[in-house]
Amino acid sequence: MSEAKVCGTCTLCCELLVIKELDKPENRVCEHQNKAEGGCRIYGRHPASCQSFRCHWLTYPAFDDSWKPDACHFLIMQPTPQVLVACVDTEHPDAWRAEPYYSQLKQWSEATLTARGAVLVYVGADVWAIFPEEDLLLQDKPEGALVEAGYIREGDLRRPAAMLKTADGDVRTVTGGLYRELQPGEPAGQTQDSL
Ligand code: SF4
Ligand code: SF4
Repeated sequence: MSEAKVCGTCTLCCELLVIKELDKPENRVCEHQNKAEGGCRIYGRHPASCQSFRCHWLTYPAFDDSWKPDACHFLIMQPTPQVLVACVDTEHPDAWRAEPYYSQLKQWSEATLTARGAVLVYVGADVWAIFPEEDLLLQDKPEGALVEAGYIREGDLRRPAAMLKTADGDVRTVTGGLYRELQPGEPAGQTQDSL
């Protein structure tokens, strides 16, 4: 039986994620983080949201150690069943573009074609919405803003779109190229001709 995974010296979620109980915003190192030795200075008394959080590397046996967040410099989480998010260490902003990570993100993004999911990459205030055909960038995401990704259907054509909604009700949308719909059995993504 394989050994259970443990966080060890990784503390990336303590840097990247919002901790509501501590009023800690995203992308700010938690004051309780023990970077030198790994772990948490208030372990045992740490907030419930910290205690319950488990990134995908920790949860899924299929992720080998090359996906450990302090090795690949991003963590993967699933805030809702349909959305997969890669939160990237801002000191390594292009880590998600390395292989095999980028190809895997692209493969996961094929769920967007059938509206079964979305893949987002957060790098500080930049959010990339990943599609099989291209990646769309939403810049300067305010704290707490929601991001959605999907397709705008235009007859037998489709256009990737990413939308950012702020708590104030502001909406920003970026769109990509126009692609013809897949034929049955046709591979997704890069094989499609952009019109
Ligand atoms: S990012 Fe994952 S492995 Fe790293 S400390 Fe958080 S839960 Fe543990
Ligand atoms: S309280 Fe501890 S576990 Fe929670 S974010 Fe801070 S350092 Fe990490």
